[in-house]
Amino acid sequence: MISLSFYQNRRVGVLGLGKTGTSVVEAMIASGAEVEVHDDCDSTIETCRQLRKMTVDSIKRLDIMIVSPGISLLWPVAHPMVIAAKKHAIPILSDVDLFQQHIQNGKGIYITGTNGKSTTTALIHYLLAAAGKKVTAGGNFKQTILSLDPLADFFVIEISSYQLESSGILGFDTAILLNVTPDHLTRHGGIEGYLTNKQKIFANFTNRSIAIVGVDDENCASIARFLQKIKHPCLVQISGRNVPAFGVGWNNNLLVDNRRGESEVVCNGSMLQLDGDHNRQNIAAAYAACADILEKETFCQGLSSFTGLNHRQEVITCIDGIIYVNDSKATNSDSAEQALKRFDNIVWILGGRPKEKGLEDLVKYFGKVKFAFLIGEGAEDFAQTLGKYGVRHEITGTLDVAVRRSKEIARVYDAKVVLLSPVCASFDQFKDFEDRGDQFRALVRDLK
Ligand code: ADP
Repeated sequence: MISLSFYQNRRVGVLGLGKTGTSVVEAMIASGAEVEVHDDCDSTIETCRQLRKMTVDSIKRLDIMIVSPGISLLWPVAHPMVIAAKKHAIPILSDVDLFQQHIQNGKGIYITGTNGKSTTTALIHYLLAAAGKKVTAGGNFKQTILSLDPLADFFVIEISSYQLESSGILGFDTAILLNVTPDHLTRHGGIEGYLTNKQKIFANFTNRSIAIVGVDDENCASIARFLQKIKHPCLVQISGRNVPAFGVGWNNNLLVDNRRGESEVVCNGSMLQLDGDHNRQNIAAAYAACADILEKETFCQGLSSFTGLNHRQEVITCIDGIIYVNDSKATNSDSAEQALKRFDNIVWILGGRPKEKGLEDLVKYFGKVKFAFLIGEGAEDFAQTLGKYGVRHEITGTLDVAVRRSKEIARVYDAKVVLLSPVCASFDQFKDFEDRGDQFRALVRDLK
């Protein structure tokens, strides 16, 4: 656990007692702070129950308030406790800020973006660990930032737009922004708010900071131009499609380091297990982050054995010549697009709690879909869109029915892939995307 001894005897309010808030409470108590807490639901965690309750009135006596990523500072409405803290000019920080106050220079690699955060975080962690470095990973990925091993030499941190919203200190050593496409717009009050929060990953940079920016979408490309304009000390543009000027990218199947304008080939993509343009973007980002830490050969060796994470185009099995793919983490159309691009002759299982963009961006892939099964809250709307474009489909409502029907339908329509790539959040029917993917995997194994 990260030590926060500089908060000893300070009055700290913790707003939100989920995974993040609880880890803040634990670290603060261990560091001798006086902690008071609030959650809109009663906490089921015993340590939190025993603590003093934070009230709108007690807030004025706090030294600091730590706000969990799930709690909004602005949109759709600010939480009443946030309003009270602002009224009394109590500093509002995040767990990421607490970590930043602890960490030494040159040790943190921070990753954000609409898609690819976890894959890139896991990849960088894997590469550094494979090279024998003492490295740990967390943040919005697996373990919370304050639970990380403080003795690590490198910290690889996935950071969401929600975490960035409540962070104020920042000034990261190495910061990666992979891509920005519309997502979580209600929470951020629109695309402008979402972009502002994503861009915060480069805020308060120092002359040691490295800014790694994906330039495959216009939102990020404009952020790269802005950083260029304000003369960021070290901007590395990355791409999964081509080789950017003074950046890292791909020329045909070759990963190319063009940071110094010398176009050096790093490795050949055909030896890799991570597939697709989207993963090429993640790999370019990982290279840009590791290039000053690892030898080129060490990087390539590690990369060739990285197989990716579960729930991201995870090939589960092959039954009677049909491949079953779990892409449960594809909760928006940009991520699902990557799977639809990769496969042909698809039985597609989709639906859940719909996101802002719907299916319209995916229409160009509908010709690859032999049949679609629709589940969850989005089923009726999706059925209308699919029907409009003549895609055969059926509303099954639940995943188990869809999986059971998929085997027969794949045979009837000569499909080669059954793909769960839902284009939706999972919370209407599942605990989270992992639960959805795990259930899919188990149902597929039952088919055997
Ligand atoms: P995140 O943590 O940002 O949600 P993940 O690495 O968990 O990203 O991947 C989520 C989904 O996005 C998966 O369906 C995956 O195939 C897809 N994906 C991964 N990297 C990218 C990328 N760079 N661009 C677009 N989609 C991606």
